[in-house]
Amino acid sequence: MSNTPERLIEALGLTDDAIIDPKGDFRRAAACRVVTDTRSLAPGDVFLALRGERFDGHDFLETARDRGAVAAIVEAPVEAPVEAGIAQLIVADTRLALGLLARYHRLHWQGRLAAITGNSGKTTVRALCEAILSRSGPTHATRGNLNNDIGVPLTLLQLDDSCAQAVIEAGANHTGEIAWTTSLARPDVVLINNVTDAHIGEFGSAGHIAQAKAEILSGLSPDGVAILNRNDRFYPVWAALASGHEVLDFGIDVPARVQAVDMVSDEGFYRFTLAIDGEEIGRVALPLMGRHNVMNALGAAAAAHAMGCAPVHVLAGLNEAEGVARRMIMIEGIRGTTLIDDSYNANPGAMRASLDTLVQRPGPRWCFLGAMGELGHYSVQAHEALGHYARDLDIDQVVTIGEPARAISTAAGARGRHFDDWAAMIDFARHSLPSQASVLIKGSLDAGMDRLVNALRSES
Ligand code: ATP
Ligand code: MG
Repeated sequence: MSNTPERLIEALGLTDDAIIDPKGDFRRAAACRVVTDTRSLAPGDVFLALRGERFDGHDFLETARDRGAVAAIVEAPVEAPVEAGIAQLIVADTRLALGLLARYHRLHWQGRLAAITGNSGKTTVRALCEAILSRSGPTHATRGNLNNDIGVPLTLLQLDDSCAQAVIEAGANHTGEIAWTTSLARPDVVLINNVTDAHIGEFGSAGHIAQAKAEILSGLSPDGVAILNRNDRFYPVWAALASGHEVLDFGIDVPARVQAVDMVSDEGFYRFTLAIDGEEIGRVALPLMGRHNVMNALGAAAAAHAMGCAPVHVLAGLNEAEGVARRMIMIEGIRGTTLIDDSYNANPGAMRASLDTLVQRPGPRWCFLGAMGELGHYSVQAHEALGHYARDLDIDQVVTIGEPARAISTAAGARGRHFDDWAAMIDFARHSLPSQASVLIKGSLDAGMDRLVNALRSES
């Protein structure tokens, strides 16, 4: 479905005095895409000017005009020299306008949509679900990590008639964000993956995070399905909030509707029989490492099932799944070591899941950990607790870089080692890593642990 000028006007509720179109360029336009970044503007597009922390789209109107935009959606009329060259649609708040456009676009799109939230694993579940659904037909999905109150509307605006199904990721770093994005997405299926205490500094407590994740239920269509993680401590809360909807729960070692049965692990990789509503669908050898990825796989299987996907596709999609870059990816390291690149992000639950996987690996087990961000006043306590966790798992060497990661290695005791200097840490790693070691590398995105991954890659 493409946006026409009439549709844009209707979606935004624009009155004539909010449209400045002296040359009639906008009203004459054919299909117009809505674009928020001038770098991806093409002639005929409409430029929506967002105000961000670093940039204000209103400063780029001349560029938009030069690139052939037929109109700009702005919060106040922009004066000469730009005004002569570009039509302007005046709204109170461009961020809100983006949402309204997305909501309108979604309402006119006929397909089915699944929305995934949770503290951890959203992108992985989305990617797994996309891989499954794509076997039954063209599937639209979130690109990269476009999961916030800007990314979700942008994703929705890309829905078109080439796909009849979509799977999107919805994240939040503040209360109310998912209530907003789910109201735009109007999902047929929602999935709440977990609470692993990400952004706990912002939300205040795990309970508040669980509430924020539950907001996704408010957008669920009346006959929609709620997919819930039976192993999560907040399952009972979510199940109560989802009453009135069909609930499809998933889990390991619990009586869930979607289950992994006869699960065995081999050096961190899992095989299991996928069972849905008591029926054994078939055997899965999951190509993604870690027990937490079995949970992600079960969630994706449940979501795809609720979307109406045939079991044969669910099974094949999981068996041939590919990992997502920087999430538990095995890489050949120097001197016969195996790097586990999990450098994309970290929070307390995600760190524990990765360490649990590391201890299943052969050879000496080392980890290099950077800080976990956005933990607020829980930060020191959370880093210390992780150090104790690593110590109790008997990991051979717990190396940290920067503050506040120091608290991890300090709490890890004799096997802990801390660096404040990257060059010194890389030098230490290059010289001290035992051959054949399994090496987990992880931290929040800001910790930049991918730098170490690149330094320790095998050169061959
Ligand atoms: P973001 O909020 O940054 O978009 P995300 O929720 O999309 O993150 P992924 O990118 O899929 O999550 O995974 C990021 C990291 O979260 C992984 O590298 C892993 O450490 C951890 N993780 C993924 N799935 C789980 C899970 N089910 N339980 C615990 N930790 C997980
Ligand atoms: Mg993500």
